[in-house]
Amino acid sequence: MDLLVATRGVHKLVEIRRILGDLGGVHLLSLTDLSLTPEPEEDDLEPYDTFEANARSKAAYFRKRSGIATVADDSGIAVDLLDGAPGVRSKRFAPGARNLDGADLDEANNAYLLESLENSPREARTAHYVCVAVLDTGGEGEALAFEGQAHGVILADPRGSGGFGYDPLFFDEELGKTFAEISQDTKNGRSHRGKAFRALARHLENVIRC
Ligand code: IMP
Repeated sequence: MDLLVATRGVHKLVEIRRILGDLGGVHLLSLTDLSLTPEPEEDDLEPYDTFEANARSKAAYFRKRSGIATVADDSGIAVDLLDGAPGVRSKRFAPGARNLDGADLDEANNAYLLESLENSPREARTAHYVCVAVLDTGGEGEALAFEGQAHGVILADPRGSGGFGYDPLFFDEELGKTFAEISQDTKNGRSHRGKAFRALARHLENVIRC
């Protein structure tokens, strides 16, 4: 079975490939593998207020464009003191984020998150990452959604150089480390994306076995 992993995030693609890696019978393809170059309408694929609705929108769009079974995810971080913000707006949280990319974008978002939580005590800085992965096979019935969450605390200073996005600030209390201080495999074992995509992998294994 061919499966398109529809993300333009380089870090996300690396994580997802590694999580789904040894899924026998499934051939993973990226947008680049299928020469699906960016189109302006892709900027408007995630206008919704829930991760699931955005992931469904992305999966349906790329399923139609590619003609093959597609998985797309939407993810972000919800901070309790900010009433769940930045949530579905995590990618473009900082003012001016629209014009930034890559490391500059991550830096601006992290700086803005720290500013938003300034002077708040550590025990109140709880947060969780969310990832919803949607599998759209184009068949009859609804596309399937799989959710994963990872809980932690937002530190007052960044730690570590691995991962991406908010990882240097996201402290996993059980590990005693941020997601930027652990290996890719350890992160996948604990992360929202790991949990969502492992649930999706279990589903695919069942489908392939039947
Ligand atoms: P999207 O899922 O591509 O819309 O991206 C959501 C945004 O949430 C990313 O750009 C990051 O800022 C943040 N985010 C989602 N997952 C992670 C993660 O595993 N680590 C760090 N930041 C993340």
